Amino acid sequence: MTDMEKMYQELGISKKVWEFGEKVEKKLAERFQEFDRTAEYNQLKVLHAMQKNKVNEACFNYVSGYGYNDMGRDTLEAVYASAFHTEAALVRPQITCGTHALALALSAILRPGDELLSPVGKPYDTLEEVIGIRQSKGSLAEYGITYKQVELLEDGYFDYPAIERALNDRTKLVTIQRSKGYQTRPSYSVEKIGELIAFIKARRPDIICMVDNCYGEFVERIEPSDVGADMIVGSLIKNPGGGLAPIGGYIAGKEELIESCAYRLTSPGLGREVGASLGVMTSFYQGFFLAPTVTCGALKGAVFAANIYEQLGYTVVPDGKESRHDIIQAVKLGTPEGVIAFCKGIQAAAPVDSYVSPEPWAMPGYDSDVIMAAGAFVQGSSIELSADGPIKPPYAVYFQGGLTWYHAKLGILKSVQAMLDAGVLEEDRVV
Ligand SMILES: *Cc1c(COP(=O)(O)O)cnc(C)c1O
Repeated sequence: MTDMEKMYQELGISKKVWEFGEKVEKKLAERFQEFDRTAEYNQLKVLHAMQKNKVNEACFNYVSGYGYNDMGRDTLEAVYASAFHTEAALVRPQITCGTHALALALSAILRPGDELLSPVGKPYDTLEEVIGIRQSKGSLAEYGITYKQVELLEDGYFDYPAIERALNDRTKLVTIQRSKGYQTRPSYSVEKIGELIAFIKARRPDIICMVDNCYGEFVERIEPSDVGADMIVGSLIKNPGGGLAPIGGYIAGKEELIESCAYRLTSPGLGREVGASLGVMTSFYQGFFLAPTVTCGALKGAVFAANIYEQLGYTVVPDGKESRHDIIQAVKLGTPEGVIAFCKGIQAAAPVDSYVSPEPWAMPGYDSDVIMAAGAFVQGSSIELSADGPIKPPYAVYFQGGLTWYHAKLGILKSVQAMLDAGVLEEDRVV
């Protein structure tokens, strides 16, 4: 027995599962190299943005109170704008999460009588309450903002004639979700998003195109802001926070739009000028600096998971060979027991709370029970190794993250082991 094999055994991985993992990993060398090259490119992009904006030691100072002249905060926003090639950015701990960032962007731009259009089908679950698809206090619907959605074609891509028909005089903003989220449609490449934006702008250049960029940052060499998006929006406890940001969200885009978002976030008249950074700046900068590498590790984990579960006979989205446009890996396990065992395995691999056992639970913002596996340094952080499974058909689990590839690998092997141990996966399928 090699020392490596022994170490895995100490962590509860049987010889059979370990050997299976080694066999699958060997075939992925070329894919992994491609991810490393993207990370290298994006690392240089971030470094360039930091150098250009003269990031310096004073950027890490603790600022409290109103936060006037919070130099660290203002410089970080310039760094994001440079890295994403936008005119401006809002990057704040006062933006509490991705949903908040998206709700902020929507409510900053839309006015009573305006219409919001999603040309990519149903948005992320938590957005349903923001928009008012599911009745909710404070939704856009309560403010007289209407919503239209164009369903996707069979292949998961855009129904251009229907999108054209859906545009009307009241359409003010189009929201495009890059990642599949809790669905089994494809996540979209930046190139495809660019085509969709060009189609809309050719018909109505005045429409604001916003991209929900959650889970997409640094997966490719370009971002939706490079292909015509007026605003891109995301969470700092996903890719761009690099695992270090303890909270936060960002909106990057056109100066005029970012200004509106700032007035909505704080107050008319105050805008970007207030909002002290309260000592989180070091983690925001350092997290952004690490984000390309961390995202790369998460991508390796996702592709490894896809190939492992494909080999075991499950349907995986994306499949083991497809190109990647976000860090999420969906695995259709087909039964509640499968979803639960998978998540218990991921939990058992965690550096934090590895000894607890997750159970399905009703979560705010979701319309079914959800089981969540996360043993994270930052609560709920999904750039850290995590898995979520809504307990409803098709009983798919959504796996993402891993601050390091090695941890992601252990997590996936643990999930296989847990499924074997629970008897939801037969021994003879692990070959
Ligand atoms: C995670 C996510 C959100 C919401 O972000 P939270 O930080 O969980 O509020 C929105 N859209 C997509 C596509 C996401 O993946």
